[in-house]
Amino acid sequence: MEKWVYTFGDGRAEGESRLRDLLGGKGANLAEMARLGLPVPPGFTITTEVCAYFYENEKQFPPELDAQVDAALVFLGALTGKSFGDENKPLLVSVRSGARASMPGMMDTVLNLGLNDVTVEALARHADPRFAYDSYRRFIQMYSSVVLHIEHRHFEEIIEDYKEANALTFDTELSAEDWKKLIGDFKAKVEEEFGAPFPQAPREQLWGAIAAVFGSWMTPRAITYRLLHDIPTSWGTAVNIQAMVFGNMGETSATGVAFTRNPATGAKELYGEFLLNAQGEDVVAGIRTPQNITEAARKAAGSDKPSLETALPRVFGEFLKTTSLLEKHYRDMQDVEFTVEDGKLWMLQTRDGKRTSKAALRIAVDMTHEGLISKEEAIARVDPASLEQLLHPTIDPKAERRVIAVGLPASPGAASGEIVFDADEAEKLKNAGRKVVLVRTETSPEDIHGMHAAEAIVTARGGMTSHAAVVARGMGKPCVSGAGAIRIDVEKGVMTAAGRTFAKGDILTVDGSSGEVMQGEVPMIQAELSGEFATLMEWADGVRRMGVRANAETPKDAKVARRFGAEGIGLCRTEHMFFDSGRILAVREMILADDENGRRSALAKLLPMQRADFVELFEIMAGLPVTIRLLDPPLHEFLPQRESEIRAVSDALGVPVEKLQRRLAALREVNPMLGFRGCRLAIAFPEIAEMQARAIFEAAAAVKKKTGDAVRLEIMAPLIIAKAELDLIQASVSSVATAVAKETGEIIPYSIGAMIETPRACLLAGEIAATAEFYSFGTNDLTQTCMALSRDDAGSFLGRYVAKGVFAADPFATLDQSGVGELIAIAASRARDARPGVKLGICGEHGGDPVSIAFCEAQGLDYVSCSPFRVPIARLAAAQAALGKKPSTQA
Ligand code: PEP
Ligand code: MG
Repeated sequence: MEKWVYTFGDGRAEGESRLRDLLGGKGANLAEMARLGLPVPPGFTITTEVCAYFYENEKQFPPELDAQVDAALVFLGALTGKSFGDENKPLLVSVRSGARASMPGMMDTVLNLGLNDVTVEALARHADPRFAYDSYRRFIQMYSSVVLHIEHRHFEEIIEDYKEANALTFDTELSAEDWKKLIGDFKAKVEEEFGAPFPQAPREQLWGAIAAVFGSWMTPRAITYRLLHDIPTSWGTAVNIQAMVFGNMGETSATGVAFTRNPATGAKELYGEFLLNAQGEDVVAGIRTPQNITEAARKAAGSDKPSLETALPRVFGEFLKTTSLLEKHYRDMQDVEFTVEDGKLWMLQTRDGKRTSKAALRIAVDMTHEGLISKEEAIARVDPASLEQLLHPTIDPKAERRVIAVGLPASPGAASGEIVFDADEAEKLKNAGRKVVLVRTETSPEDIHGMHAAEAIVTARGGMTSHAAVVARGMGKPCVSGAGAIRIDVEKGVMTAAGRTFAKGDILTVDGSSGEVMQGEVPMIQAELSGEFATLMEWADGVRRMGVRANAETPKDAKVARRFGAEGIGLCRTEHMFFDSGRILAVREMILADDENGRRSALAKLLPMQRADFVELFEIMAGLPVTIRLLDPPLHEFLPQRESEIRAVSDALGVPVEKLQRRLAALREVNPMLGFRGCRLAIAFPEIAEMQARAIFEAAAAVKKKTGDAVRLEIMAPLIIAKAELDLIQASVSSVATAVAKETGEIIPYSIGAMIETPRACLLAGEIAATAEFYSFGTNDLTQTCMALSRDDAGSFLGRYVAKGVFAADPFATLDQSGVGELIAIAASRARDARPGVKLGICGEHGGDPVSIAFCEAQGLDYVSCSPFRVPIARLAAAQAALGKKPSTQA
């Protein structure tokens, strides 16, 4: 018989953490904790296979499930001495979802299940009547909302009206009698809204809740979350049913959440929050402001509410031992939920904690030093893409900060943007290319898409573990939570803070590292790279096989590239040097010249400037390889387009406007991507390539004389499609090299290579390799030329294409999916056959994309080259690829 149910409790469990796929993350870890002898309320897990069955069978359950759930309830009864539905000793349970991957806040929970008009009296007799009726009314609220889909606000309204009529302010002022009265009102409301009485039979309640958890797998918010995090729908969720423990049984009871290390900084300190006399979701919901767990944290926060350490010292001691055991057992930072029932600690959940990339780095490096994990594991644990967070700017310490509110530093980094109060609007503005800061009283799972669209998130309420804080950290976005000074009026589209009113569209700057919310756009500076960063990078460099270079042409970019550890320049796009305002006129003069002589005299003006560029670049790169690409874009891109500009150029060069316009028309490229550009310029106008080659060799000679560093020179022809093209260019470069060597007395070694940017070049790579000493794959053009589509199409038809399933997702994201990869494989193999040991690199945008980097490793490429800011990402991704780690496609 198929096994659908796995029990745990009292030091035993049928499951274990290895069974995550079957039991979900929560269920597997509850079983594991039970096996470790930790205090876990006894319970059972209904497997993810039931979820699959449920959706494959018109929302029916497998026939054997009923009996297996009954048996599990008997098991719970035996361990607790209670029984489900018993009029004297009723067993109450919680029902929670738990998927394989954690989906915070996505799925629904029901607590106190099993209460009804009869069992509540038993609870009132055994415990405290106020507690019993409060628990029952909470159950009615939760169950009605999650299972019966009655809006929460109906119940909130009933409570508010009651408090107003009876001159009461806080829920805590309501007595047992008050709650009893309200329960009557709640039940009447349910009957009105649902059309049937609130279910009294515990078994009916239980099956309703189980179906609701499975049902919540397909809610729009769960589907959105899965899409954002690449979680397959087929995984399904499990359902966890556990004997209730109560954190709301008075001042010796509590409920809380904690991380075994600081999830924002990675510091090795127990970090968490709790509420005395509170139940379940009160902490996560962010409705009451929680207390710190440790004294140290309480002092640091300047809170006057007691910490768990002083409020319940014995429990605190046990909690410390438990969390440290869990961290050692799982060998990773843990995020735990716990409840204290009348002085007894119960662990409700443990999982690997979400963390900022800064914390991820620190934890990985610290745990290696602590001997908990190996260097290789440390390298594998940090998501390369997340490093981008650390390279983000921070607020300039010298800048003036006009702080309007201070909250908790929930997720580090800084960003500015327009205020929006609504998730849909945040998404709309983001799609229109605007930067927004989402400001909410608190966030809920329905706001996910808006949080994703925002540069930063601010909430007026909630702690470090509120929904906003947890989700923002996961997304790597700056977030300030609990900025209590902010009051939002969504209807009017305004907020007030610091005695001022701010409207939708006003600019705010958010510093998620300090908790400050500032008015206007505050200047930022580049982040310094911390010690752990350098350490992990060093370890990564120790294991990676591929080289990492940068695409850079300006001295500024070259310096950044070196600071980030680039091992050379893989692509220096020389045209950028031509666009410089001091040169563009000479470039235009060259283009507009009537004959070779005219061109040569304009080029003579450019030569010293171009030479100076290279001198600077070679000095910065100090003997590292530099790949210089000859001029690439079609010439018309350098000419003025607007009427006023044309007149100005005509004046400056003394060329009649008509002539300029004729030339413009002649040069207008019909096929700007493939036509008269790239190496074809160097062949039609050899004097251009000659000037560039002369500038390169003269600069190299000068730098060698000056510093003694011999630059490792690689000259690269763009958009090659035939061997004959490269032969012509090689001949011209070689004669310049010989001439300069004679003139300067310095022989500069160099190699000549080609960019492979078209399918044709890929297929001819064997033939061209007779001349080319190296290839660099230009996957930007290669993607466009073999798909005839580009990222620019994303704005037009691509979205609809994806929606209609023509493409599963963004077809340009990675090399392995787009067909481009197959062409690279063909080119690499033909090039190697023709020239064993030929150097192969990549310099398109894919050179900085972890998944594509893994592909390059698999193809045995020699190096990747990417934009300077992606160099650290590429170093780590190349190391992971060398270790054989499959990169995640998660953003
Ligand atoms: C490429 O095509 O991939 C490339 C690097 O060249 P560019 O982006 O300059 O066209
Ligand atoms: Mg290109």
